[in-house]
Amino acid sequence: MEIRTEEGWKERMACRLCCKEADLPFKYLGIPVGGNHRKLALWKPLLESFKKKLASWKGQNLSLRGRITLLNSMLSSLLVYLMSAFKIPKGTIHSLDKIRRNILWGGLGEEKKIKWVSWERVCRKKECGGLGVKDLRKFNLGLMGKWWGRLVKGEEGLWGKVIRGKYGGNGGQWMDWVRDGRRVGSLWWRDLQSLNVGEDGNEGWLTEGFRMKIGEGKGVSFWWDEWCGENCLANIYPRLYVLSTGKEKDCQQMGEDHNGTWKWNMTWRRALFQWEEEAEKELQKTIEKVKISPGCADRWEWIHSADGQYSTTTAYAVLAKQRKEDDEEKIFKRVWNPTIPTKVAAFNWRVLMDRIPTRSNLFKRGIIKEVEERKCALCMGEEEDSSHLFLNCSVAKWLWKACTKWWGVKIVLQKECWPTFQHLGAWTKKTYKKEGWDCIWNAMLWTVWMARNKKIFDNAEVNLIKLFDLIQLRSFTWIKARKPKCYFHLSDWLINPTSCLDKA
Ligand SMILES: [Zn+2]
Repeated sequence: MEIRTEEGWKERMACRLCCKEADLPFKYLGIPVGGNHRKLALWKPLLESFKKKLASWKGQNLSLRGRITLLNSMLSSLLVYLMSAFKIPKGTIHSLDKIRRNILWGGLGEEKKIKWVSWERVCRKKECGGLGVKDLRKFNLGLMGKWWGRLVKGEEGLWGKVIRGKYGGNGGQWMDWVRDGRRVGSLWWRDLQSLNVGEDGNEGWLTEGFRMKIGEGKGVSFWWDEWCGENCLANIYPRLYVLSTGKEKDCQQMGEDHNGTWKWNMTWRRALFQWEEEAEKELQKTIEKVKISPGCADRWEWIHSADGQYSTTTAYAVLAKQRKEDDEEKIFKRVWNPTIPTKVAAFNWRVLMDRIPTRSNLFKRGIIKEVEERKCALCMGEEEDSSHLFLNCSVAKWLWKACTKWWGVKIVLQKECWPTFQHLGAWTKKTYKKEGWDCIWNAMLWTVWMARNKKIFDNAEVNLIKLFDLIQLRSFTWIKARKPKCYFHLSDWLINPTSCLDKA
């Protein structure tokens, strides 16, 4: 608190109150108090500590899964604490994401890395085609929403009393604060009121997420609160509202309890016309479904969790919800099948979007300059893009032929990776066989890519038989690791893979 007084007064008061004299802003339980939290400067120490933490990971050879875990777990301590107290400025989120993006693509230091997939996609859930990395702004909103969760429950303690004392607000009035976002009061309070705006088109996520579970109906506006259904009655029956003699009444005042049965009691300014009577009947039908129980408190419930309590996890799920194509969801589920090692699955994920460093992609990004250098490392014939490398190259063609002969199946290879993967298991109706064949796809991709890299970096010759052996061995190892109890040997696998899967 800044107090303008005569010299020495502050010191004397501090002494009398047994506290320390200090300047603003100061830290309380690690949270900066008294500063303007919308200013980037206030967040600088946080960024520094974030960077410092990362430095301790420098030089570690982390797998992609390790890096994703690191990205999400770094949010666990101080940052989460601060994000649940304040809305972080855009600039700070931008700086944090810049560091996080670099980590994801393999850099823990200052060096620049190619970001192969857009950050927006990376932050999507896995079944929506992303990697499940947390979106900081949405996470921030979800955490801040907790304050509303406490406020509507009326269990907020002293701070809530201060808020109510200053801004009013009993019953459902908090909903108006959120709904029209009047943005009055302190910076913090204004941020809290703006949460409902959301991010990326999920405006109204808070007001739509809380629903009144009616008890005795005291303080719940009959006409204006959404206590039966998704809209308030004044909006559904505007004519009846105009004619009602109880415009200001709460639910409790609109009826009576007769020996345990609730009777609604509506009165009108004049006799209703026939069409108005029909509307009244409809209204009666709607409200009869709701039981008013005297002595039972009304409460707000968070509709996204089973117990009606607000939680950050459910809020984040609402905020991060993406429109997804059913078909796509199925495909991405297959991509992240736990039988496939994560690094291989992630590689497949990138292949399906053509986001791997093929020579064609390196040329597009200006890393390879010569047109000639775009040629496939394995056959030195055509341009090396993912569909060539894994489907149309002579090496890939030979391997696919060997695999289909080994399994005794016929498959149609499309020109591109995505549709090929999409229709990969079409030869069978059995899910476990489809999954087995997905393993072959992944083993193929990984084996060809490794061979390609060895040829480029170690000048190693390509031996087709050896590559085929590797595909067989890799798929065997993955399936055995997932199902250790199923009884078949490598020799069985090499002779008849489908009958091995029948046993599994
Ligand atoms: Zn080739």
